[in-house]
Amino acid sequence: MSNRPCSRIACGKPSVATLTFDYADSMAVLGPLAIEHDPHSFDLCDRHSARTTAPQGWQLVRHRVFTDQAGAAGSAT
Ligand SMILES: [Zn+2]
Repeated sequence: MSNRPCSRIACGKPSVATLTFDYADSMAVLGPLAIEHDPHSFDLCDRHSARTTAPQGWQLVRHRVFTDQAGAAGSAT
């Protein structure tokens, strides 16, 4: 496995999410850590990904990658 550090300067924590910019739609997508590094994406640690906001005029789409709240929303039996 290839652990990449957070792309924020002076952070260096392990990344848990990847922020990708879709320039065509002015959309920033925050999702699970990408397997391959994309030059248009930024790897972020849990803290920095939680603080991420979209640039002005952009829309931020946040996928659920954080299972902080222990809600057993997995198996409905
Ligand atoms: Zn960080």
